[in-house]
Amino acid sequence: MKQIKANDISRLFYRYQDEFEEKALSVLRSGHYVLGTEVTSFEQEFASFMGSDYCVGLGSGLDALWLSFRILGIGKGDEVLVPSNTYIASVMGITINGANPVFVEPDAYFTMDPEKIEEKITERTKAILSVNLYGQSCHMAKLREFCDRHHLFLVEDSAQSHGARYDGRFTNTYTDISCFSFYPTKNLGGFGEGGAILTNCPEYDRAFRIYRNYGSEKRYFNQVVGTNSRLDELQAGLLRVKLAHLSETNEERQKLTERYSREIHNPMIQLPKVRPFASSVWHQYVIRCEKRDLLKAYLQDHGIDSIIHYPIPPHLSEAYTSLGFHRGDLPIAERYADTVLSLPLYNGMTESEQDEVIQVLNGFKV
Ligand SMILES: *Cc1c(COP(=O)(O)O)cnc(C)c1O
Repeated sequence: MKQIKANDISRLFYRYQDEFEEKALSVLRSGHYVLGTEVTSFEQEFASFMGSDYCVGLGSGLDALWLSFRILGIGKGDEVLVPSNTYIASVMGITINGANPVFVEPDAYFTMDPEKIEEKITERTKAILSVNLYGQSCHMAKLREFCDRHHLFLVEDSAQSHGARYDGRFTNTYTDISCFSFYPTKNLGGFGEGGAILTNCPEYDRAFRIYRNYGSEKRYFNQVVGTNSRLDELQAGLLRVKLAHLSETNEERQKLTERYSREIHNPMIQLPKVRPFASSVWHQYVIRCEKRDLLKAYLQDHGIDSIIHYPIPPHLSEAYTSLGFHRGDLPIAERYADTVLSLPLYNGMTESEQDEVIQVLNGFKV
């Protein structure tokens, strides 16, 4: 029996192998490996594709997050609202700067519940960090309106949502700063580490450029204590190849997930729903099941890998014991952690692989 993997990113590499290899060779032969023309071109192309004025290429998604709060002047004593069911990097982006995460429970779409924000606001609240988890768009219109009314920054963790839309507009068009990761498994993934921010603000654009390069705009003149977080030429070149196919690869994921939603029929399994007026780019197809651990083991017995995103919500993580949370404090995030399961999903997944997953899932009972 052939194992079906939860993810197989090599399929996409082989689909465009010639383009990737040609680009890699041309960068290797160019003699420019950091902050050259590939990075500049990628920044222009990504900003233009996503409908933002500026893009700054960075070393990772986490760097995009913590640098955002650094640049906005958010640190010790400040509070940032963040969904309770996110990947822990979102929270680290806040706490690296000494600011406090304030957790807001998710709604049925796995993203921050807009109805639960108001009650979390204090005089120390400075920003909302919305997370488009699994590729789903948050309720961007409500978040923007709320931030405007309360004079808060809206920062977005779009590490899983390159191209997600709300009301026909890319989610980044609603934010002050949007943070992206190009980790290899993301919808727009490179061949190593990488990240970027999108913004319409020229001051932020300039600040990111300074911070990513040791705080210097002019060589050896350092204005602030920055960091080293530069997207490299090889990643930028290869990301340009991927970006040219992003609409097509996101559409392929849409088709694959439509088929899951059409053909998985099992009363024990709850399928994901997409928010009204929103579109998902389906970074993950996440089902819910009360007998999740049994289901995962059953799939494994039938040669099908699956992943839990994520088994421990940030507030219960060992890294954040100092925040003083206990089980029961954020019951929705905890329930999701106990019941979610991501099905195999990747560009290049074949019809027969999907047949197999659907058939096995439909046969699950306890
Ligand atoms: C991947 C991811 C990050 C971190 O990105 P890196 O490039 O790995 O640093 C942050 N937030 C979310 C939601 C992610 O999925």
